[in-house]
Amino acid sequence: MYTFSVRDLESSVYAAVTEVLRAKAHWRERGRERGDRPPSAALSADTLRVNLVLGERNKLPYGKLGHEPGLQQLVNYYRGSSSLCRKTKLVSVLNTASQFHSDRVDWLPVSFVIRPANNNNACKSENGSTSQEWIRKLRQNNQHADDREEFRRHWEMSQGSGDGSVWIAKSSSGAKGEGILISQDPDELLAFVDGQPQAHVVQKYIEKPFLLTGNRKFDIRCWVLLDHEYNIFMMREGVLRTSSEPYIADDLKNITSHLTNHCIQEAHSQNYGMYEDGNEMFFTEFNRFLQDNYNGCMEDTILPQIHHIIRQCLTAIKEEVTTEGLGYQSFQLFGFDFMLDTDFKVWLIEVNGAPACAKRLQSQLVEGIVCLVIDRVFPPPSDPASPNQTRQPSQLASFEKL
Ligand code: ADP
Ligand code: MG
Ligand code: MG
Ligand code: MG
Repeated sequence: MYTFSVRDLESSVYAAVTEVLRAKAHWRERGRERGDRPPSAALSADTLRVNLVLGERNKLPYGKLGHEPGLQQLVNYYRGSSSLCRKTKLVSVLNTASQFHSDRVDWLPVSFVIRPANNNNACKSENGSTSQEWIRKLRQNNQHADDREEFRRHWEMSQGSGDGSVWIAKSSSGAKGEGILISQDPDELLAFVDGQPQAHVVQKYIEKPFLLTGNRKFDIRCWVLLDHEYNIFMMREGVLRTSSEPYIADDLKNITSHLTNHCIQEAHSQNYGMYEDGNEMFFTEFNRFLQDNYNGCMEDTILPQIHHIIRQCLTAIKEEVTTEGLGYQSFQLFGFDFMLDTDFKVWLIEVNGAPACAKRLQSQLVEGIVCLVIDRVFPPPSDPASPNQTRQPSQLASFEKL
């Protein structure tokens, strides 16, 4: 008998994993009071004394794991994975990796970390009051010099180079396409960041994206499972999040043309759902498009680039986050987001540390989490007698080991 607890009630993926475990006789849930689970009970110390902690995303008390004699523990996040999942940290990590480890990173658009200059605007919290916490955060931010001089120099040098002059400013922990500015004007970009409470990445805009029928932009989402032994598995099926408006290169304020986030499209596009159900095109369908129009498929050049980028990213943080030698083990699901340009070059856009999953793929994903990780750390009881019951990673057709 193994025990598990659910400390995060937000994640739809882990809600589905929970359902699977509840149905298994060899798993028992801790901290669940007859269906309704007050948050305080969910977070009681008891919920940390279990084999499997399905934890809260950002404030898991990792320090309390792995100390109970005889209790083997697994948790669904890697401590320190924010190094990939916060946009500013990702830039620092990858710049360092390419400087010191000769892993050339030529697939991240040129990016600069810009911290808001200490101005009055940024000292106000959302409701207009000045909070201690806010000031503390600002001080922390300002301790680190930012890259604005480098950005300006780069901008000057790249004028007329043919690389284009459009940049995108994105908040470090922003999501869903909010708090984004696309502009050709470095002063406007820096002033925008200076008006924000948070560090931003100012990144070269991919000005010539590969376009679908109807001249529509898209980004590519891949689900990646990093197991307890740091093996990397990618789900073979993934999804393109498409825009349902034509791409208009020089109308930078047109958000539905430039931002492919699902919620932006759903809220603002007149044609939402017109081309693809829910503005989602699965790889299978994209392959058909590539076959019909370019006599090719993702396997040719796109997937090899994607695999390479995922491996390089996870390798870059391995030393920092690995649970090898600790009293507990981690695993984590990541959502890697890419763009494709007209030269079929793949660019990394961002990494999500707690991705939701397209409905159609959720059961495959949950099966992967259970078979590739949970069952391997905590074998089902019948395992020694009939070893065929636990499936080997190679038998799970929906995932590919990278
Ligand atoms: P968020 O966390 O808000 O989703 P993203 O980095 O994914 O932030 O950016 C939101 C959207 O903006 C992406 O889905 C993509 O459509 C567009 N985008 C982001 N970065 C770039 C870029 N460098 N070039 C072109 N488009 C970009
Ligand atoms: Mg059960
Ligand atoms: Mg995001
Ligand atoms: Mg995104």
